[in-house]
Amino acid sequence: MIITLKKGASDAQVENLKALLRTKNIEPRVWKGELETVIGCVGDIAHLDPGLIEALEVVEHVQRIQEPFKAANRKFHPDDSVIECGAGAKVGGGNFAVIAGPCSVEGEEQIVGVAKDVKAAGATMLRGGAFKPRTSPYAFQGMGAEGLRLLSLAKKETGLPIVTELMDFKDIELFNDVDVIQIGARNMQNFNLLREVGAYTKKPILLKRGMSATLQELLMSAEYIMASGNPNVILCERGIRTFETALRNTLDLGVVTVLHRLSHLPVVVDPSHATGHSWMVDSVAVAATAIGADGLIIEVHNDPPHAKCDGAQSQTPAMFAKTMDRVRAVRAVI
Ligand code: PEP
Ligand code: MN
Repeated sequence: MIITLKKGASDAQVENLKALLRTKNIEPRVWKGELETVIGCVGDIAHLDPGLIEALEVVEHVQRIQEPFKAANRKFHPDDSVIECGAGAKVGGGNFAVIAGPCSVEGEEQIVGVAKDVKAAGATMLRGGAFKPRTSPYAFQGMGAEGLRLLSLAKKETGLPIVTELMDFKDIELFNDVDVIQIGARNMQNFNLLREVGAYTKKPILLKRGMSATLQELLMSAEYIMASGNPNVILCERGIRTFETALRNTLDLGVVTVLHRLSHLPVVVDPSHATGHSWMVDSVAVAATAIGADGLIIEVHNDPPHAKCDGAQSQTPAMFAKTMDRVRAVRAVI
């Protein structure tokens, strides 16, 4: 952190500020120039609110040079994290994961059928929501415990590890057979849930970016899970809300590169929720692969027009198989 003082700051004011910083375990280094005085801060500033310093009468400006996230920070963990997701599926460090399946589990035939189709096309994990975060309380809310039972059945039939969303920690005991626990965009900053899940299990957590979250906020949410004891976090970019309405959300693929620079955690991209339209999913999935994402999460439904949730953005198994061919071709090139 670098503190620039106002012109004309007196020696007494500088000494007072130095004393204050020392009470916060920060060692101040002062440079007195002709025009301005600058204080460089050495020490762990993670617990210091820069706004508090900036509010002081003598201070002109505070610049943070150290990120507030530690466990997720590449500076302290230079190698890519490789997250083991069960049954040999891995993500990160060159391991590419494709998580595919319906938005929601709707019945045995549907989930087992889609699981077989996506596996045949090359998916490495099966997705399917049992507890659904819906905007309307009147919309289908998911099958709950029965949905999880059907996911287990599909896992038994195909061997694919399962990924499903946890909305409420009270349901965690139902998740014993779940391989990767999804925390959805709407719960990215549910700090109690992040803390509880991080302390309870070391299973991989797929953490989706909140719809108005900055990358730093996403990484701080990962930090909650990691600081609670679970280092196995997979970041998921699924687009954010902007003024643009052509896509369901606005997807900036550049964030994959930024997250890779800032963090060692794997980054997967969700072209389904990002675009909201099944015809866009293929090209965005291919682009996400090309930019270096560690995986994809794609919604696939056997009968999209009759899907109970997110049918418009769901690929058919045939569309998904074509996307997988193109994703494999891009992977081979890059
Ligand atoms: C989902 O994966 O079905 C979902 C609800 O995603 P998000 O939390 O990104 O909206
Ligand atoms: Mn969905």
